[in-house]
Amino acid sequence: EAKAEGRSGYRFYTSAMNARVLEKAGLEAALRNALERNEFVLHYQPKIDVASGRWLAVEALLRWDRPGHGLVPPEQFIPALEDTGLIVPVGAWVIEAACRQLGAWQRAGVPLGIAVNVSARQIMRVVREQGGATAPAAGGGGDPLWLAMTTCMRAHQVPPGLLEFELTESTLMLHVDETNAMLLRLKSLGVGLSIDDFGTGYSSLAYLRRLPIDTLKIDGQFIRDLTSNPDDAAIALAILRMAHSLKLKVVAEGVETQAQLDWLSQQGCDQAQGYFIARPMPVDVLEQAWHEHEARRGASPVS
Ligand code: C2E
Ligand code: MG
Ligand code: MG
Ligand code: MG
Repeated sequence: EAKAEGRSGYRFYTSAMNARVLEKAGLEAALRNALERNEFVLHYQPKIDVASGRWLAVEALLRWDRPGHGLVPPEQFIPALEDTGLIVPVGAWVIEAACRQLGAWQRAGVPLGIAVNVSARQIMRVVREQGGATAPAAGGGGDPLWLAMTTCMRAHQVPPGLLEFELTESTLMLHVDETNAMLLRLKSLGVGLSIDDFGTGYSSLAYLRRLPIDTLKIDGQFIRDLTSNPDDAAIALAILRMAHSLKLKVVAEGVETQAQLDWLSQQGCDQAQGYFIARPMPVDVLEQAWHEHEARRGASPVS
């Protein structure tokens, strides 16, 4: 078949392949230096309490300020970080940056928590390095996520209740026993745990019930057409009812309209996040927006 298409077609195909391989190699090489060159930044997007409208916490979202490319969004480099294992040191940097920020906000009287996204590899590195052995690190120490977190929280005097981790269903379904042991240790410290992008994976109710999770985040794809598509509304409602009956809080992500927020409010959704409320922002913009928000609410300004 390749022959029938002629040499030029074949050449075109290989050069396109080569370009992709080169691009991937270039991306990975640039990522290897990005940490020491301090090219990563966190943007923060608020999560609000639906009933009061009040900002409760922010989600830390990683961006890469790649020289000559501008601010690169996570979908364009997180897969490469995961493939190369660089997600482990970069993930530790994210936790350190979030804890440093929490410490600064504590001292400044800003009562916001921070949620950090965690990849499977950050929990599983120890297991993989041991060649597939399934025992978690003993005694609560050992794995990189735990180490990064406990060290940073101590260094920046962060109350554990202000920190939260977001894990996807696929991360949670991988190496179930180790993940569960890990979550229990985090939970025992008082760190918040939520399932991100809920509804896009295959978690069973029976399994979910056993996890020490506080919160489900309904994936934005079910929120988008909530007010026009009865199927999406039915799914969102089912998730809400199920989560509440399991005593879990529910966050709706991707809220883009007032109508969506009204619907969520009527159905008793606990928290919401999305462009309609606020976009992810650099920290200085976020702090300004938070002060304005508090002033509008008539709360006394932070001293
Ligand atoms: P996520 O954790 O589900 O984060 C939500 C994503 O939806 C963010 O994209 C956010 O900017 C976007 N978003 C928020 N509100 C709206 C809205 O109203 N409409 C729409 N269309 N989108 C909205 P972002 O920042 O590009 O991040 C994409 C994903 O990258 C995140 O999805 C998360 O899975 C991953 N990610 C981001 N930061 C980190 C990190 O530090 N570590 C790891 N492991 N993953 C990260
Ligand atoms: Mg998230
Ligand atoms: Mg999400
Ligand atoms: Mg998502």
